[in-house]
This record gives sequence, structure tokens and C-alpha cells, in this order.
Amino acid sequence: MVRPENQRKVIILSAPSGAGKSTVIRHLLQEFPQLEFSISATSRQPRGTEQHGVEYYFFKTEEFEQLIQEDAFVEYEEVYAGSYYGTLRSELERIWSKGNTIIFDIDVKGGVNLKKLFGDQALAIFIKVPSIEELRQRLINRATDTPEAIERRVAKAEEELTYESSFDYTLVNDDLETALQQAETLIKDFILQ
Ligand code: ADP
Ligand code: 5GP
Repeated sequence: MVRPENQRKVIILSAPSGAGKSTVIRHLLQEFPQLEFSISATSRQPRGTEQHGVEYYFFKTEEFEQLIQEDAFVEYEEVYAGSYYGTLRSELERIWSKGNTIIFDIDVKGGVNLKKLFGDQALAIFIKVPSIEELRQRLINRATDTPEAIERRVAKAEEELTYESSFDYTLVNDDLETALQQAETLIKDFILQ
């Protein structure tokens, strides 16, 4: 069933890197079968076992820039120097055409842009950790980034925190179980409304 335009809902999760977006989204996708993850396009290289069309749609930089020229993106950002990330218009249609609600894992500026675009159709959640030091510690524990990359992500987080007020809700991811419960309640209320 294709929903009328005004019922096409989206959920936006944004946060500084390491705040817990992937962890919260993984949980929500298990709890709510009507949610579907928006697979972004990126020009960065696949990591580990990542596959085209699963975690991301991977493109060469020139291909990504061609898609920008063709106005194929609803939003895109150069999140890290030399690496583009964006949401393809075709991805929205792919998910909505099944009657599902879209959930986005997106950087803070992209999240602000999507909230402006979708207005009341969107539930925009900003995730944060109790302190910058805790954020640094989680990135260290995750062990996916070099010490230099971690410091770049932490430095970026300071600026990203200034966008919190553009979101509908702030979810403080301190105790994980509490944060997951709070996220579930927010999503339930939004889906049922
Ligand atoms: P993001 O997707 O925002 O970059 P992740 O979901 O990858 O963040 O979380 C970063 C790291 O912090 C991961 O190793 C994750 O297991 C861990 N983590 C997430 N939530 C918590 C929490 N509440 N307490 C402690 N560690 C957490
Ligand atoms: P990673 O390279 O670690 O997978 O992701 C880096 C960052 O890019 C994360 O903050 C993630 O939320 C963000 N991101 C992923 N997809 C998109 C997108 O489509 N648009 C924007 N603006 N950011 C994205």
C-alpha cells in the first residue's frame, strides 16, 4: 500500500560519532517491523564486511558528484574531508512504496536539513552522552578509529552539540537500557499518532 503524502513518516537519529546512533537503531529495527533503515550513499571505501546495498550504496567520488549534478539527493554532506554521504530520493520511494516508516542514521547537519524538509512528518531525535570525556572513552572502546580520528570526531562533536535545539527530542544515552526504553516510547507515540 502506498501511503498518502501526509502519512509518509520519517524518524531521524543524529548525534556526534560514538553517541550511540547505530546501537539505538539496531534495537528499534528489532522492536518495530514497520521501520526500515535508509541506506545512504557514500563515496568512502567499504570497511570490513560492508556490502553495496546493505550498509551503504558505495560510489566513486566522480559518480557521487555526478549524482549531485543530477539532483538525485534529498540531502548530502561532506561529513569528513573527502567523504560524501547522502540520502538518495530513490531510497525514500523504495521504503515508502512498501508502506514502511523510514529511519535515518545521519550526521547532525543532515538531520537538521531533513527535519526542515519533512516538518511534522518527521520525529527528529538528538542523541548525546553525559560528557565529551565519556564520548571519547566510547570511541576508544569501540576500537574502530585511530587515535587521530577519535580526536577529530571529538572536536567535531563540540560543534555538533550546538545544533541540539533544532531537534524534537534529546535522548541522553547514559545507561543503555534506559535510553533504549525512552527511544521505544518516543517511536511508539510517533507511529501511533
Ligand atoms: P554511533 O553510531 O553514534 O557512532 P555506536 O552505536 O557505534 O555510536 O556506539 C559507540 C560505542 O559505544 C559502541 O562501542 C557501543 O557499543 C557503545 N555504547 C553505546 N551505548 C552505550 C552506553 N549507553 N554505555 C556504554 N557504551 C555504549
Ligand atoms: P561512517 O563512515 O562511520 O559509517 O559514518 C560517518 C557519519 O556519516 C555518521 O555520522 C553518519 O550518521 C553520517 N551519515 C551516514 N549517512 C548519511 C547521509 O545520508 N547523510 C548525511 N548527511 N550523513 C550521513
